[in-house]
Amino acid sequence: MKRYHDIVGDGGSNVLEQVVEQRARITEGLAGVRHLVAVGSGKGGVGKSTLTLHLAGALRGRGLRMAILDADFNGPSQARMAGVERAVFVPPRSTDGSGAAGRSDKVALPRTSNGIGVFSMGSLVPESDALEFESAAQGESHTWRATREFSLLTQILGSFEWGALDLLMFDLPPGAERTVQYADFLGARASFLLVTIPSEVARGVVARSVAALSKRPNRLLGYVENMSGYYCRDCNAIKPLFESDGPSSLGIPCLGTVPFDPELARHCDLGTPFTAQRGTPVSLALDGVAERLLDVLEKERP
Ligand code: ADP
Repeated sequence: MKRYHDIVGDGGSNVLEQVVEQRARITEGLAGVRHLVAVGSGKGGVGKSTLTLHLAGALRGRGLRMAILDADFNGPSQARMAGVERAVFVPPRSTDGSGAAGRSDKVALPRTSNGIGVFSMGSLVPESDALEFESAAQGESHTWRATREFSLLTQILGSFEWGALDLLMFDLPPGAERTVQYADFLGARASFLLVTIPSEVARGVVARSVAALSKRPNRLLGYVENMSGYYCRDCNAIKPLFESDGPSSLGIPCLGTVPFDPELARHCDLGTPFTAQRGTPVSLALDGVAERLLDVLEKERP
């Protein structure tokens, strides 16, 4: 099969130059980002978006410069969860303090009240609409979907002002095979954090993601077990939620467990920060995972 670089004479569309130029724009745009962390699972509904946002919040609380790219274009949750649903996209302000538009042609990221930059398709497409990828031939959208999705991701990465960041977190869509496509797209620089819940069904799917990612050069930082018990606020105790509560054997390090807390779900629905809940089991669990994540990231690659 031919790769882009093997194409000779493309009828004048300069596809090779275009791809190289876009890649260069992305590399340049992400040059100030220390760590790219993709949060995936394979399974949907296990709390990828929730953990991405609230781990980013915990790290932001430690003074780190954080941004999130919600890569789930068809089921974007970050806009609502992070409270940037009605964000207005504006050019970045100049750095000389004059207030005049800067020289950059890139778009500024919407920010949460605690200063996390968030790109989510949910800020652009209202929940009453679905994102539709146009296809070259009607009824053939399935053929074009992955291509359009990654071309959109390329545009987003090249169009926004990511600036100087400690972590850029990618909230991935479900699907083990798509998780691997993101590894291929983002390249070896991106590390992966996986999310599961204590159900054998979810663990089985996450195990597939682990197996698929293990064949790639990307670092597998570990996994988080979300919904590990239910935090009962009335009795201030963690109660079992799934029969399979307890350690799982995914063959990668467990960076922590996070219980289900209805108050966290409520904050996610309202798009309000969880910071007022400091000291609760969920908040402490998130802090613990954030700390271990940082430790692993800062360690040299094995
Ligand atoms: P995913 O991104 O994997 O599809 P979400 O993060 O959207 O999953 O989570 C699904 C639902 O479960 C959301 O309503 C979210 O608020 C809720 N949720 C996830 N984790 C927790 C938790 N630990 N405590 C309370 N609610 C949670």
